[in-house]
Amino acid sequence: MIDLLSLELGELEELIVEMGFERYRAKQIFSFLYKQKVNSFDDITVLKKDVRKLLKEKFYFNTLEVVSNFQGKDGARKYLFKLNDGNFIESVLIPMENGRYTICVSTQSGCRMGCKFCATGRMGFKRSLSVSEIVEQVRFILKESGLKTANVVYMGMGEPLDNYENTVKSIKILMDENGLAISKRRITLSTCGILPQLEWLKRDLPYINLALSLHSVIDDKRSLIMPVNIKHPVGRVLESLKDFPMPRRKRITFEYVMIKGINDTQEDAKALLRVMSNFRCKLNIIPLNKHDLMGTKFEPTPLDEIERFASYLRDKGMFVTIRKSKGSDINAACGMLAAKVS
Ligand code: SF4
Repeated sequence: MIDLLSLELGELEELIVEMGFERYRAKQIFSFLYKQKVNSFDDITVLKKDVRKLLKEKFYFNTLEVVSNFQGKDGARKYLFKLNDGNFIESVLIPMENGRYTICVSTQSGCRMGCKFCATGRMGFKRSLSVSEIVEQVRFILKESGLKTANVVYMGMGEPLDNYENTVKSIKILMDENGLAISKRRITLSTCGILPQLEWLKRDLPYINLALSLHSVIDDKRSLIMPVNIKHPVGRVLESLKDFPMPRRKRITFEYVMIKGINDTQEDAKALLRVMSNFRCKLNIIPLNKHDLMGTKFEPTPLDEIERFASYLRDKGMFVTIRKSKGSDINAACGMLAAKVS
């Protein structure tokens, strides 16, 4: 049986032609999958009954089972999904100030990058998601919330570039104009920086929005909070990003979870300034979210000190924002997704 929601339109066309049907049927099916968001061939009413029967014998719908969905005070809604093999993932629907919505998707159940401040990193690694498990998070949430479209950020559980092929393919499916037609400008991939996948991304998905989980530009400090830095040092990652093809008028986002006494000193600000001067970029400072899995080692930097840090960089002409983390009361903010079944 073939996993229908893991197929790009071109692949579906080939299979449909192989089965002896007209090519345009594939487009019809694809459109029903993503525009009407059907979960069964029975709902693809433009197809004859005997055709539907044959399709049912060849393809299956890899849908997700929603275990719970909670809405926080600020409107962010967190979904806990159970995968076919019993593992869990989370996704979040976040209302934006401009009236639009953003869906934050997971690419793995757990994560093997082990960032010290991140709940997902602390829960360990279960497995990477299939293409359909990634795509279905968006399809499900759009259908359930009645939204036509949304921005999509690959910032949930897992490191997208550690599940490279499936991440890239899922983005191509989301972008297909015969389906959800989510524009590249509305999709952001967030990575802690893995090579050579960053290089491949330039070839496979140029002009996508990119966010780098930076958190420090000083090697020793970054290795301390992000073990991935030992294998992929920040200098090499930044070098690779220098010629990343960005959408017009867009900037690379550097994510910076601010941790008291670790990456919030004058030395850190000066080092950051040197790096930022080389990029069309934006620094997004995220006040550390405390959560159960973090232990007591890390504390958030007080807000007035975060402001001082940001002002230093702004005064030098840098573009800096301080994120008001949405969803922190339901453990759905950055670095807090840990698929707790409760
Ligand atoms: S911050 Fe991202 S890359 Fe790091 S452990 Fe968490 S999910 Fe993985």
